[in-house]
Amino acid sequence: MDMETKCLHSGYTPKNGDPRVVPIVQSTTYVYDSTDEVAGVFDDPTKSIIYSRFANPTVMAVEAKVADMEGGVGAMATSSGQAANLLAILNLCAAGDSFIATPSVYGGTLNLFNITLRRLGIECIFVDEEASEEEIQAAFKPNTKAVFGETLANPALTVFDIEKFAKIAHANGVPLIVDNTFATPVLCRPFEWGADIVTHSTSKYMDGHALQCGGMIVDAGKFDYTNGKFPEFTEPDESYHGIVYTDKYADAPYITKARMQLMRDFGCYPAAHSAFLLNLGLETLPVRMRQYCDNAMQVATFLEQADGIASVTYPGLPGDRYHALAEKYLPDGTSGVISFVVKGGRPQAVKFMDSLKLASNEVHVADIRTCVLHPASATHRQLTDEQLVAAGIDGGMIRLSVGLESVHDIIEDLKRGLAAL
Ligand SMILES: *Cc1c(COP(=O)(O)O)cnc(C)c1O
Repeated sequence: MDMETKCLHSGYTPKNGDPRVVPIVQSTTYVYDSTDEVAGVFDDPTKSIIYSRFANPTVMAVEAKVADMEGGVGAMATSSGQAANLLAILNLCAAGDSFIATPSVYGGTLNLFNITLRRLGIECIFVDEEASEEEIQAAFKPNTKAVFGETLANPALTVFDIEKFAKIAHANGVPLIVDNTFATPVLCRPFEWGADIVTHSTSKYMDGHALQCGGMIVDAGKFDYTNGKFPEFTEPDESYHGIVYTDKYADAPYITKARMQLMRDFGCYPAAHSAFLLNLGLETLPVRMRQYCDNAMQVATFLEQADGIASVTYPGLPGDRYHALAEKYLPDGTSGVISFVVKGGRPQAVKFMDSLKLASNEVHVADIRTCVLHPASATHRQLTDEQLVAAGIDGGMIRLSVGLESVHDIIEDLKRGLAAL
């Protein structure tokens, strides 16, 4: 099936007389006929449902849809994008391990990697996305267990060279994780370029309507965890009566282990109602992504020619530093997110934003309504000046998330901002 069809039909196939729409199963528990049946469920929790802390029919329908959209063998939903990235790493790394990530990753991810995971004894080694293969290779240590990057970084809008990083990760016997939040599988499917695990903040375009916070981890099912580097996959799991994930769940050991160990223990699973809302967003995702890309391209072209604007970052623009990589990985468009720098730095950026009437000033992105954010004083507030530079953030930088209003009205609003400078 093509993407449009998957978005409407994957994950839920009603049988005779069933509801047409994925039902909201608002129940924490599931009933079995006998003690023996319950015992059997514990023997293989992938076969039936035990408890809504780590499995629920509504959520699982959406998981199956997203797995199909990405071309993976399985997916696990989480209660936020942060939880998705946290579990994606913890499924591979324990205290004493390290992993490699690019410094342009989302500010929340940067904090998680650089501060909280470090506190747990997991080291994040940062390597610039434009580093040569030799430089990336030099960053690997014997304890390095994964490589991580964002297809289209939020808000730096750098384009991650998935093939380059996948090749080096695989040469070192570790999987590549790609956060595909901004691109969504409509614009890029990282598995087709060699990624092994995809993560999402479904709070963004996938939901699209700013209704629920959620995340997703998707498993390509291709990486070989029996190469000696991942004993947690190949040795008996004492917390699960001695299961060996690469034996018992050889088709999808990564995502099975994530659910059985990590979701069981951390419990950051979404509510059925949230999954239902996410599913509504997914149904129209391909139509919306096309329109976001169209609108944003026109807005980016307008801003590029405007006085008062020092620079515009939008990989869809021919002059953008990442245009060549965007043409390769994102040929159908580079999302609705644009960042631009107002001449005069922070005070002028604030003046510009405060004179907008249509675009709302909010801590969100990839919404159906146009919104703006000042990263230096909001999402990236915790970062030092050096980290801001490394993350590609300037004091005058504004992140503009172009919505689905008429592009004419959006541009009129931006003219108001320009007039205030
Ligand atoms: C927003 C975002 C996250 C975090 O997701 P939440 O749903 O807000 O927890 C992670 N990665 C990227 C690229 C994001 O844009």
